[in-house]
Amino acid sequence: MANLEQKESTFTADSPSVPSLIQGQIAYLYKNKTLGFWSNILLATFMAFFLWFHLSNQQIPLLIWLGLIVTLSIVRFLIGKNFKPKQQYTQIELTRWANRHVFFSTFISTMWGLSGLVFFPADFSHLILMILVLFSVLLASIPTLAASRIAYYFQVFITLLPITILLFLSNDEGHSLVAGAIIIMAITLIFASSYIYQLLFELQETQLKLQDLADTDQLTQIANRRHFDRKFKVEWRRAMRERTPISMLLIDVDFFKKYNDTYGHQAGDSCLKQIADTMASITHRPADLASRYGGEEFSILLPVTKQADAVMLAERLRRKIEGLQIEHSRTDIGVVTVSIGVSCCEPAWDFTGKTPDEDQKVIFPAMLLTAADNALYVSKERGRNQVSEQGCGDHKMAKALRKQSEADTSVS
Ligand code: GH3
Ligand code: MG
Ligand code: MG
Repeated sequence: MANLEQKESTFTADSPSVPSLIQGQIAYLYKNKTLGFWSNILLATFMAFFLWFHLSNQQIPLLIWLGLIVTLSIVRFLIGKNFKPKQQYTQIELTRWANRHVFFSTFISTMWGLSGLVFFPADFSHLILMILVLFSVLLASIPTLAASRIAYYFQVFITLLPITILLFLSNDEGHSLVAGAIIIMAITLIFASSYIYQLLFELQETQLKLQDLADTDQLTQIANRRHFDRKFKVEWRRAMRERTPISMLLIDVDFFKKYNDTYGHQAGDSCLKQIADTMASITHRPADLASRYGGEEFSILLPVTKQADAVMLAERLRRKIEGLQIEHSRTDIGVVTVSIGVSCCEPAWDFTGKTPDEDQKVIFPAMLLTAADNALYVSKERGRNQVSEQGCGDHKMAKALRKQSEADTSVS
């Protein structure tokens, strides 16, 4: 239903920024849910109140109509409360959220449209009042644009069409003039809302471009530490929720100080770029994240990946970097190599037999990093240019870390 209109973005369809852009739009939509809620309830009550005395033979349908608008608005509001702007949703989930809003909004618009048909007032002042209320409702539903522009235009159409047709059919010159005015105002509303949509979209796009810049390491053009830290938290929470394993590779260039000393800092920079490109080339899944962890250290985060698969990937990366054949006369094999530490956690894994508490949520991410760091240390100790692994579901380690964390909190 909702098309989310990605086509107008300068981001390509498979750019990782597209879901963030849509997420921004949907977050905007649900942030403004109170406006839609109150405007519908207040305007419907206001209109029912004025029509109550005017249409004394239609008071029951009027009450049913009011009840339906109020119920639909409450249901739409309550559903919207479940949207968590800070949670990272997939594109499919976001489309579902957008569709839910569009579905209820279209239903509500249909009710408003029906009011023009069923409660068409004979009296001119009541008629003008009803038209003003209908336009007010349409102005308050402008946030729907964030879900789908087409859906909003359809809502304008469905809200105003019945009353406009009745006005034309009434064969009264005054009524025809009012119908003409409604059409002109509706066209103006569509054009104005189109500009608002464009503005909203461009602002979000600029914001995302700035965020992309702040998240990218300027030398290697892959994600920086800041990006890694944020993504790690998001993926960790997802792994806890969905009970999936999460793996991590820590990569350190061997004898890089000697490389700099021998070939110069600029050659060192170019070497880091080649290594970063190689890392980016072996990570294919959208959730994988290769980043520069600091200096000549890199990391690869692999959500929903088992330890054995992460080790295979690490070995492929090690071989590919060796295969780049970047000359390094001060190593045994004469080329630049890397040492890699691999770790894997299952955040839902529970060593106490209870569901993970706040403490564990803090301990577990540290365990993944510590295990990868330990494994990297082993690779270095064993002679470099190799891959070592360490799982982090170890009782001893978990207990030791827990003790450490308790000691830290008692000190502070
Ligand atoms: P090891 O095999 O034990 O990892 O030895 P190493 O020499 O690689 O490790 P060490 O930590 O002693 O040295 C890291 C070097 O990486 C020192 C630093 O000058 C260099 N380095 C860090 N960041 C950059 C950078 O952005 N560009 C360049 N060219 N060098 C960098
Ligand atoms: Mg290092
Ligand atoms: Mg090093």
